[in-house]
Amino acid sequence: MADNLSPISRLLHRRGESLQKGDPVALPIVASTTFHLPGDPQASHVYGRYGNPTVEEVEAEIGLLEGAEAVLFPSGMAAIAALFYAHLKPGDRVLVHADGYYNARALLEAYFAPLGIDIATCPTAEMAEANLTGVKLVLAETPSNPGLEVCDLAKLARNAKDAGALLAVDNTTATPLCQRPLNLGADFTIMADTKAMAGHSDILAGHVASRDPALMQPVKTWRRLGGAICSPFDAYLLHRGLATLELRVARANANALAVANALSGMEGVTGLRYPGLATDPAHGVARKQMSGYGPIVSFCLPSRELAERFIETHPLLTPATSFGGVHSAAECRARWGDKVPGGFIRMACGIEPVADLTGATIRTLSALGLRSA
Ligand SMILES: *Cc1c(COP(=O)(O)O)cnc(C)c1O
Repeated sequence: MADNLSPISRLLHRRGESLQKGDPVALPIVASTTFHLPGDPQASHVYGRYGNPTVEEVEAEIGLLEGAEAVLFPSGMAAIAALFYAHLKPGDRVLVHADGYYNARALLEAYFAPLGIDIATCPTAEMAEANLTGVKLVLAETPSNPGLEVCDLAKLARNAKDAGALLAVDNTTATPLCQRPLNLGADFTIMADTKAMAGHSDILAGHVASRDPALMQPVKTWRRLGGAICSPFDAYLLHRGLATLELRVARANANALAVANALSGMEGVTGLRYPGLATDPAHGVARKQMSGYGPIVSFCLPSRELAERFIETHPLLTPATSFGGVHSAAECRARWGDKVPGGFIRMACGIEPVADLTGATIRTLSALGLRSA
């Protein structure tokens, strides 16, 4: 297919290019764990843990978005674990974000520190200036979740290269439509496809992508031996989600920007963060490396009680964790022990019409006694 077409068009028409007369247009779910294999065991497919046609099709679609080989996992954490197991050995030093997705650090501390791997952390906003001497692998996350800090990926990639460190970027909040870490010099992207990529809050999935086959080989071997295999049924739902990714991301981003703008005019709202707001401390760096700013807005209301009432009484907010789904959702992060004020809310915008979401947000705050400033 023509190279001048966007990855989304190529993804949507990928299957059509190879169809024979009478073939199903929709992607078939191949449920088989075993494949016809007489004699010599050389074949396109052998056994489910080694490869599955439905899973491979979805990997090819993600590969178009990443511009790189992508390997699918049954969750975002399975992808992160595969990266660590494939590329860390005793005596290595790993530098991980101090304020991004908590379970990445928890995994390192519980299972890699005892194996003799040295774990250092750094706040996302300072990561591009971190001293990487002796570091084997850096895991950055930008914008970070839930604090929405940003780090300069091109600069971090240059520093990593100079120090001989590998750079992996968790691109879950941005998606490859809004930020391309591999183009900025990262060695790997990892993503929780559970979020916007699948987009309907109904499956867990994740992937690792890289343009260097030598870096991908140990990740693939880890998956085959460790057995972290995405089911073809879940892969199919991810495929369904990817078909509408661009539309959903565009609406969710527009919702987040409109909500952030509305909140910036409300009294009682403090600590508002959205990397797309011109007034946000991270906007300068975000604008250089992002073409859209994601679905998440964070802010504080004066108390935990008020924040809980806001979430409870807002007609379009599902009280739930996670983000990247079709419904807007929100939660008080203090309930997870995050180091944030009680009234800190992470609001994840869905794909409701923009005027509905902003209107309901302003009306809900007004009903709690907070007015437009
Ligand atoms: C959700 C998330 C993960 C983990 O993904 P799971 O599919 O829940 O394992 C990793 N990183 C980020 C930034 C996430 O938001």
